[in-house]
Amino acid sequence: MVRRMLIAGNWKMNGLKTALDEIDAMAAGAPAGPELLICPPATLITAASGRGIGIGGQDCHPDANGAHTGDLSAPMLADAGAEAVIIGHSERRADHGETDADVASKTLAVWEAGLVAIICVGETEAERDSGDALAVVARQIETSVPANATGDDTVIAYEPVWAIGTGRTPSIEDVAEIHDAIRAQLADRFDADGSDIRILYGGSMKPANAADLLAVENVDGGLIGGASLKAADFLAIAKAAAAA
Ligand code: PEP
Repeated sequence: MVRRMLIAGNWKMNGLKTALDEIDAMAAGAPAGPELLICPPATLITAASGRGIGIGGQDCHPDANGAHTGDLSAPMLADAGAEAVIIGHSERRADHGETDADVASKTLAVWEAGLVAIICVGETEAERDSGDALAVVARQIETSVPANATGDDTVIAYEPVWAIGTGRTPSIEDVAEIHDAIRAQLADRFDADGSDIRILYGGSMKPANAADLLAVENVDGGLIGGASLKAADFLAIAKAAAAA
C-alpha cells in the first residue's frame, strides 16, 4: 500500500460556529493528493462534517455508553460524523493522567466504532535531554498500540511534548531518527500492516517548516495545532504535503 499523506488539524478547545467558515475555506482550497482532517471541539463535529474534508474527535471514553458525566464515546463521535479520533495527546496525558493502558483501551473503542485512531506519542524535554527519547517512544508504541493495528485503522503521531505550541522543533535528523525507529518497530510487530501505518510528525509544524519536515522519509504527514486554526496556514501545509 502506498501511504497517502495525512494533514490533520487539532483545534483543541478552540472554535465556535463561526469557525465553520474555515472548514469551508479548507475544503474549497484543498490541493489534490493529501488527505485532510480537522478535529474540532466535539460541539462542532456534526456541523463540520459533510463539508468536504474529514472530521475527527479529540478524545473518547473507552466505554460505548454509561454513567460517565461529561464524556463522549467513540460510537457517539461516529454518529456525529467523525471519521477518526485523536487518542493519547500529551495534553490528555498531562491534564487527565491518561496512561498508555488508557490509550490502548480507548484505541480499541475507536476501532470497535469503525473509526481511525490517531495515537499520539512523544518524549518530554527532560527525557530528550537525558538521551531517553527513543526508549520512551518505543515503550509508548509498545503499550499504547493494541495488537492487530493496521494502516486502515491506525495512525501514529510522533509529537515531542516540548515542541507542542512552543515554536520549537527537533532537528530534521532527530525527526528522521525517531520516525525510522517507529517504522522499524511497527514493521517488526505488525509485518506488512506495520509498513502501512502512517506516522505523522506533530509539534510547531507551520507553513515555514512544513516542506522540510514532510520531506523526511517515514514522515507521512502532520498533526497540527495552532497552524490548523486558519485555512490559509493549514492549506499552505497541505500544499507542502502535496509537493513532498
Ligand atoms: C498538537 O497539539 O498536536 C500540536 C502539534 O500543536 P502545535 O502545532 O500548536 O505545536
